[in-house]
Amino acid sequence: MSLIVQKYGGSSVRDAERVMNVANRIVETYDKGNDVVVVVSAQGDTTDDLIEKAQEINPKASKREMDMLLSSGEQISVSLLAMAIEKIGRPVISLTGWQAGFRTDSKYSAARIHKIDTERLHNELDKRKIIIVAGFQGVNKYDDITTLGRGGSDTSAVALAAALHAEVCEIYTDVDGVFTADPRFVKNAFKLDDISYDEMLELASLGANVLHNRSVELAKKYHVKLAVKSSLSKNEGTYVKEVDQVEKMLVRGVTRDNDCARVALCGIEDTPGKAYRVFALLSQNGISVDLIIQSIGNGEKKDISFTVTESDLDHAVQILEDNQAELKIDSIKTRRDVSKVSIVGAGMVNNAGVATTMFEALYNADINISMIATSEIKISVLVDQKDAERAVVAIHDKFML
Ligand code: ASP
Ligand code: MG
Repeated sequence: MSLIVQKYGGSSVRDAERVMNVANRIVETYDKGNDVVVVVSAQGDTTDDLIEKAQEINPKASKREMDMLLSSGEQISVSLLAMAIEKIGRPVISLTGWQAGFRTDSKYSAARIHKIDTERLHNELDKRKIIIVAGFQGVNKYDDITTLGRGGSDTSAVALAAALHAEVCEIYTDVDGVFTADPRFVKNAFKLDDISYDEMLELASLGANVLHNRSVELAKKYHVKLAVKSSLSKNEGTYVKEVDQVEKMLVRGVTRDNDCARVALCGIEDTPGKAYRVFALLSQNGISVDLIIQSIGNGEKKDISFTVTESDLDHAVQILEDNQAELKIDSIKTRRDVSKVSIVGAGMVNNAGVATTMFEALYNADINISMIATSEIKISVLVDQKDAERAVVAIHDKFML
């Protein structure tokens, strides 16, 4: 007998039929003699709908009240799922984040879990109950409800698995696992049997929409074995764990991320400290910068370009314009219609030819690269957004076929 944590995403519980389907799957695991703790997200588009409701009333609502509102989505799904399991006739109890012991910091809408008081959970498990926990939420030291940020139920599930020393944390979604590329537009993309935490972390941060990246960070830190599976099939899924597959496949995934925008600072004074000032200003204002390039200066002027998320673009430009005179920048240019295309694979660490192969694939597809960034296990390029899907297909074909 083992303790298994399962997480079901919003699409897996979007209507009564899907809720019953999930209930049956949970009961199947329970009837094998396992202890089962389940985390669920809000049904379907509930969270988006709630955000819309708030915006109709007050687009600048405080984050505290937004968390109060958004946490209700998960409260609906845990109770409905518990009712479905009652109907099948197994002992079950639904719990909000607070009841399940999730204590977080006070950063509303992006809270971090401090600890989980597992006493209540253990009491219920001792009574052989199936526990259904509301994902994405906890309470802070004032006993106010907080949420963990969009997609945060994955993180709730991994944190529970770590706190309860679960055998495995199964993340159920509407796809069969982690794919080498987005199967919606890459026809020969295929499912990976396993992937390392580091590779998954990169994929999650680079636009593969399978797992919340903080959940992968947590899983790595606490050695939680993750299984990403479909709630609609019985297929094996993908295991995220410590794996040594360096020799098998050089590149494990190709992603694109349309949520980026480029800022070019043209003709900035070529003196020490300018890059420092620019990026210090941005980070002090909570803006993360991704790809960066700086041109060779000519002794007087140089150019610095970088990318930010689209939602940060206006704020970033505002800050730079406010300081344009002091920084001696001739002009600030921006573009939103750019995408970041990346390859990820632990095997590329010791392989010099990978970047060349990626650039060759783009050249053959006649796609222009405007920025490049590399790290040990990933290479990213910035391309025109209209070329992004084609770029992913070309690169995927080159490495995977
Ligand atoms: N319901 C929340 C969201 O839509 C949390 C989650 O689904 O993980 O972001
Ligand atoms: Mg999700």
